[in-house]
Amino acid sequence: MKKLIAALVGMLFIPLVLARPAATPVSPVTAREQLNATLWLQRATEYELATRQVYRLATERLTTVIAAPGSAATEQWGSTAAQLAALPTAIVVDLDETVLDNTYYQARQLLQGREYEEASWQAWMQEAAATAIPGAVEFLRAAAAAGHKIYYVTNRLCQPLASSPADECPARTATLRNLRALGLPNSDEAETLMLRGERPQWSSSDKSARRASIAERYRIVALVGDDLRDFVDRPVFEARRGELEGLFGARWFLLPNPIYGSWERELTSGACAPSMSSMDCAAQSLTRKYQQLKPQPAARPTPGS
Ligand SMILES: [Mg+2]
Repeated sequence: MKKLIAALVGMLFIPLVLARPAATPVSPVTAREQLNATLWLQRATEYELATRQVYRLATERLTTVIAAPGSAATEQWGSTAAQLAALPTAIVVDLDETVLDNTYYQARQLLQGREYEEASWQAWMQEAAATAIPGAVEFLRAAAAAGHKIYYVTNRLCQPLASSPADECPARTATLRNLRALGLPNSDEAETLMLRGERPQWSSSDKSARRASIAERYRIVALVGDDLRDFVDRPVFEARRGELEGLFGARWFLLPNPIYGSWERELTSGACAPSMSSMDCAAQSLTRKYQQLKPQPAARPTPGS
C-alpha cells in the first residue's frame, strides 16, 4: 500500500517538475547579469513606491504646471503663445516600463539564460498580458478627466510576423488589446497609439517625429517615460541640459528602469561587429560594461585652480 501511495504521489509530481522552468539559468552569463535589475522591478517595494511617487507628483502637477500655458515638447517651442492657446491639450506617454510592466518577459528570458530578442519579444506582445506600472492607470484617468487627450508613443516595432503575414502591424493590434484590458483612457481610438515604423518617417526610435506630428493638432502639456528619448533625443539633452533639466518633475516625469534603455546602448555602442554571433555580441557588450565601471571617484580640482 505504501508503495502504491508513493507511486501515486510520484505521478502527481512528475508533471509539476516537467512544467517548471530550469531553476538555474544556463549560459550566456550576460543574461544572468540582469537578475538584480529584474528582481528590483518585480519584487522591491522600493520600486513600487518610486513609480507611485512619480505618478502622484504628475497628478498633483495637473492642476499647477501642466494646467499653465506653454508646451512640454521642444518640437513645439517655436510656436507663439496664441498658436498654442488655440490648440486642445494632450499628454504623451511611453508604454514599456512606463505604463506597461513587461518584466514577465524579462523573467522568462532570464530563466532560460537568454537575452532580449525581437522574435520572443513579439510573441510576448501578442499575449497582451502586460500589467500596469503602479500608479499609471490612476494618473492617466485623472489626466483624461482633466480634459487631456492621452497619446501612447511606443518603440514597439510595427512589422508583419511570419505567423500572420497578412497583418501589417500585429504589435498594434495586440498592444491596443492590452491597453483596453487595463481600462486606459483613449485606448479605443486608433490614432492615439503610435508605433515605431508605422509610417516611413517614424522608423527611428527617436520619438521626435511622432511628437511633432501630435504637436500639429495638440498642445503637448506633459511627457512621461522611462528613457531620456521619451522626452528629447540624447544629444539634444546633453547640449541643452542646463535649460532642460528643470522640466523633470514639472512637465516631464521620469520612471526608473535599470533593465534596458538608450543609457545602456550608449555604454555598449560599437561593441558588436555586424558579423558577430549574438553570443559573441553579448560577451563583447558585457566586457565593455565592466570597462566602464568607476572604481575611483574623479579627482577633485585642487583649490585655487
Ligand atoms: Mg519605455
